[in-house]
Amino acid sequence: MKTCSRCKVSKPLESYSKLASSRDGLQSKCKQCFSEYNRQRYQAKGEEIRAKVNARARRLGKDLYEKYQREYLKEYYQKNKERINKRNAEYAKNNREVRRGIKARYRTQLVQGMSALDRRKSTLHRKRIKDNPCYYCGRYRTDMHDDHYYPIGLGGTDHWFNIVRACSECNFKKSKRLARDFIF
Ligand SMILES: [Zn+2]
Ligand SMILES: [Zn+2]
Repeated sequence: MKTCSRCKVSKPLESYSKLASSRDGLQSKCKQCFSEYNRQRYQAKGEEIRAKVNARARRLGKDLYEKYQREYLKEYYQKNKERINKRNAEYAKNNREVRRGIKARYRTQLVQGMSALDRRKSTLHRKRIKDNPCYYCGRYRTDMHDDHYYPIGLGGTDHWFNIVRACSECNFKKSKRLARDFIF
């Protein structure tokens, strides 16, 4: 049993959500109180946060704002590397099933509407472009990948005509944006 810091009621451990960074691995508020707390905080702060974010995006322009966000995330990661890695490793351990599901769905989506011949063509195409420079920047780098011109997450498939060679830098920059919107 553990006493909730908010409602002060003693409740069984199952009534608390996990929180890896706390001493006992659980949140101090019970699940019920935590969701209530979040709801209130969101109502009070949500509008303010949204307004701030929108104002910043308007000030910087969309592209700059995205760059800013990426840089912020990078910096945040560098500062909190250990904690983030630990959390991710824990999450991965606890969510093998979920991950398997995501991978399976990805594979299904990848080959959607593709015949055996299509798949064979894609394999051949991959071999053919293996030594090509980056499709986007034209450079050769040590870290080269096959990239889906139209991202799988946006409905692209694994057909040969959707596969290009890309360096990791361009791959990262492009992320999930459509290749045709992708400007250097
Ligand atoms: Zn409570
Ligand atoms: Zn490139």
